[in-house]
Amino acid sequence: MDKLEQSVGSSGMVVSESGGEAPLIDPFQRAISYLRVSVTDRCDFRCVYCMSEDMTFLPKAEVLSLEELDRLCSAFVRLGVKKLRLTGGEPLVRRNIMWLIERLGRHLKTGELNELTLTTNGSQLARYADELVAAGVKRLNVSIDTLDPHKFAAITRWGKFDKVMDGLAAAEAAGLKIKINCVALKGVNDDEVHNLVAWCGERGYDLTFIEVMPMGDIGGETRLEQYWPLSMLRAELQKRWTLNEIDYKTGGPARYVEVKETGGRIGFITPLTHNFCESCNRVRLTCTGTLYMCLGQEDAADLRQPLRASDDDQLLIAAIREAITRKPKGHDFIIDRRRRGPAVGRHMSVTGG
Ligand code: SAM
Ligand code: SF4
Repeated sequence: MDKLEQSVGSSGMVVSESGGEAPLIDPFQRAISYLRVSVTDRCDFRCVYCMSEDMTFLPKAEVLSLEELDRLCSAFVRLGVKKLRLTGGEPLVRRNIMWLIERLGRHLKTGELNELTLTTNGSQLARYADELVAAGVKRLNVSIDTLDPHKFAAITRWGKFDKVMDGLAAAEAAGLKIKINCVALKGVNDDEVHNLVAWCGERGYDLTFIEVMPMGDIGGETRLEQYWPLSMLRAELQKRWTLNEIDYKTGGPARYVEVKETGGRIGFITPLTHNFCESCNRVRLTCTGTLYMCLGQEDAADLRQPLRASDDDQLLIAAIREAITRKPKGHDFIIDRRRRGPAVGRHMSVTGG
């Protein structure tokens, strides 16, 4: 909707012409329709590109309760968010997480929300797959960087490959559509990309490759050592597969091709080699109620304070609207030899993938 069609009502609420809450439009006329929520910063894995082994996690007192997360997410839905993705840390290790997922499922039933989904490492899927389907979840992103159990143990440090495979089987049996997220890692899984494409093709999984992003200190290794540009990965894939450009969109930042030989789709998330900011419809909420308007910038808004300051949502909604006026045009990630530290101090597990 055009900004001119919005006006401020007598209650201070920004209303649309139809009288409901006006949608969130940022200064670059991008409508904010997608919220990613990191429901916990904790995880049962310690992936080498994501966390250091001895991570310090937030004190529990700083983390929003599930009831507060429900209130916050529901406020965004009122403001026109159509897609919610729960992530983390590992979302399915948060205690009673199914309570939140079931609560949020009510917005699917009313039609206010189009999609409720999760990004998960798959370790808890065997336990939760059926309940997720019952709550209205239809698709999942599952992160798997390798099909070699030994490498899997090395990358995730604490992960159990078989448990994740059991989780995937349970998710499939429950009828969930699966997309595999795979971080491209030089010298680690660069010899496996053909296998991954074939494996996903056989199972009907979409596959998305992600470039390593320079977020958070990860201990000894540097991102420069891990970074494998997807332009190179794609060139490798083209040696064996026919990749046809398609106009497929999931609301996320990936650009997709179809693999002629398998009929499967491959997405490329290339924040470093290709800037995808111009069509960004997303904002990210942490489990402490901090809203990041861009994954690659430090600017953020505290929503916990207005959330807790009153029982109705007026202050909260005003704070959300103010934050959206600060959504930047784009990020400035860069990995190069001059800057060896992370471009953004927080870890990916704070804002989720
Ligand atoms: N634990 C869940 C998982 O692994 O799917 C959800 C959270 S995880 C932070 C979300 C996604 O971010 C995963 O696909 C993970 O591989 C990816 N990721 C983590 N750190 C990253 C980094 N520095 N660069 C690129 N992707 C990263
Ligand atoms: Fe945990 Fe996901 Fe980060 Fe791996 S990528 S450490 S599974 S949050």
